[in-house]
Amino acid sequence: MEKIKMTTPLVEMDGDEMTRILWKMIKDELILPFVDLKTEYYDLGLPYRDKTSDQVTIDSANATKRLGVAVKCATITPNVQRMSEYNLHQMWKSPNGTIRAMLDGTVFRTPITIPSIHPAVKFWKKPITIARHAYGDVYRDVEIQTTEPGVAKLVFEGASGERIEEVIHEFSGPGVIEGMHNTDASIRSFAHSCFKYALDVKQTLWFATKDTISKKYDGRFKAIFEEVFQEYKDAFEAAGIEYFYTLIDDAVARVMRSEGGFIWACKNYDGDVMSDMVSTAFGSLAMMTSVLVSPDGKYEYEAAHGTVTRHYYKYLKGEETSTNPMATIFAWSGAFRKRGELDNLPELVNYANQLEQACFDTLNEGLETKDLVNLSEGITPKGLTSLEFLKEIRKRLEVRLGA
Ligand code: NAP
Ligand code: MG
Repeated sequence: MEKIKMTTPLVEMDGDEMTRILWKMIKDELILPFVDLKTEYYDLGLPYRDKTSDQVTIDSANATKRLGVAVKCATITPNVQRMSEYNLHQMWKSPNGTIRAMLDGTVFRTPITIPSIHPAVKFWKKPITIARHAYGDVYRDVEIQTTEPGVAKLVFEGASGERIEEVIHEFSGPGVIEGMHNTDASIRSFAHSCFKYALDVKQTLWFATKDTISKKYDGRFKAIFEEVFQEYKDAFEAAGIEYFYTLIDDAVARVMRSEGGFIWACKNYDGDVMSDMVSTAFGSLAMMTSVLVSPDGKYEYEAAHGTVTRHYYKYLKGEETSTNPMATIFAWSGAFRKRGELDNLPELVNYANQLEQACFDTLNEGLETKDLVNLSEGITPKGLTSLEFLKEIRKRLEVRLGA
């Protein structure tokens, strides 16, 4: 078989630990034999981030702005213990945080679903994607704890000299006060990313806040979404999808009774809480994919899980591990599909689809990594090592591509 051609390179962001090992295995088994791979390679592994004083992370984000599509391996976010383990010069920031800030992007998390793994919610038939606004609210708050009676006020001093003052509460005893903010610009970027992504995957978009109670703050979110939606209205209609706004409590109830298959845009705190609930209810962190979408349509695909440290330490001792590569494979297939669509390369899009189908073929025949074995119902699964699992996928991919 002649290898599938690419025109624009993908931005390839390598990573750490067990996922770095899987990264190479996936390329060797499932990509390089079939695709004439073009990437701009950035090593975001912690040793090289340290060596370049994290410049490599910034370079990789700039490359994503330039080329439009990136695929990222999981990376270590250093903590005190990693400082000594890797002999670091500094406790470098989370690469994901840096990239997200530079692209001003929103993260969309979608579970990979298979018939043998049943969601905890029996109505759910299709994946639910959560989009979490990643700026402000309680995550950038200012808090005060008081010990005596007094008055708390909210004061805004405008650059023009305008002054707005509101009494928050007259305390007759000790209490707590919290100030939070968001910006029109950030809410608007969030809205653009959500509408763009909904069009991309042709799924209806839900958004919910508590604007009946928080008339100005949450009301602003609702109004900006409505305003930005006007730019996408015709495209939504043509794609046969909808934008649906409701109250957050109504949304939660409806999500539970729905069959899935939509995107749920959440304010920062709602997204934090709901993404953990939704992903747990769908089954496994190892089957959760993630894509960062910028308001101007740049994409960075990755797995939602981390570097699977516990498995890596086993690997270092020479043990074969059964780490699940699905979410990392789907990061690659997502990136190839998007690159293929942007560059008008139907063969590359087809390869991405066939790669995902070959994964499903393998899982549906009961060939799985060990994390999935206990979750499977209605089949007799066989637990494989990562490499055995990848080789089974490869066999099926070869048949599908006629290679
Ligand atoms: P983790 O790497 O996601 O792993 C947590 C546990 O989940 C694993 O020990 C494993 O359970 C299970 N698991 C996750 N992915 C799996 C897979 N593909 N196959 C099988 N089992 C899987 O989270 P962590 O241990 O909290 O973090 C490890 C490192 O990853 C940290 O340094 C953190 O900074 C980093 N991290 C990076 C990202 C990112 O780059 N996007 C995200 C999160 C964390 P068992 O051990 O029970 O088998
Ligand atoms: Mg959380």
